[in-house]
Amino acid sequence: MEESLGPPGLVETFTALAASDNVSYILSNDLFIQNTNSAWDQFAIENGGEQILATWGRGASLLAAIPEPLRPFFVDGFARACSTGERWEHDYECSSPERYRQFRMIVFPFAEGFVVTHALRAEHAHDRETRGPAEAYVHQGLITMCAHCRRVRTPPRARERWDWVPVYVARPLSHVSHGLCPPCAEYYYPDVA
Ligand SMILES: [Zn+2]
Repeated sequence: MEESLGPPGLVETFTALAASDNVSYILSNDLFIQNTNSAWDQFAIENGGEQILATWGRGASLLAAIPEPLRPFFVDGFARACSTGERWEHDYECSSPERYRQFRMIVFPFAEGFVVTHALRAEHAHDRETRGPAEAYVHQGLITMCAHCRRVRTPPRARERWDWVPVYVARPLSHVSHGLCPPCAEYYYPDVA
């Protein structure tokens, strides 16, 4: 009897990962979400339901859901994984108002697209200084939020500072523009800055 001993394909890899608690999905080569696992459904329910479904659901563009300053980084990362055939890992912060959370995104490239999974790396109560919402954060009608850590910037007229304001993290802001605070730019996205 001959057995297929080749490496697992896209569907096998997704099926294996889909059973875990990690949010996992299949992306087409042009980065549209094709399939999601039950951990993803759970995540959507816990994080704003319908809006998450519309932004990150099946058929949605992953790039459209990523804040603009980070798009080139993700385009490059997926392109590199595609051309080298090697998996790509990227650590990022996705904190709640109360808890610091760091995830690792792991991207497995295949000829037909990508399997992506997000593994929780660290979680603990925030030990950072917190501030309340204030008019001082609004500049020309917009609040500027770091696309990575979600701290918000004081307006340019003050000496620039990026503050952790849990109220602004608790729900989506309607008037927001995204930037990168200096530590995130240096540490996580040196090629973007
Ligand atoms: Zn930041």
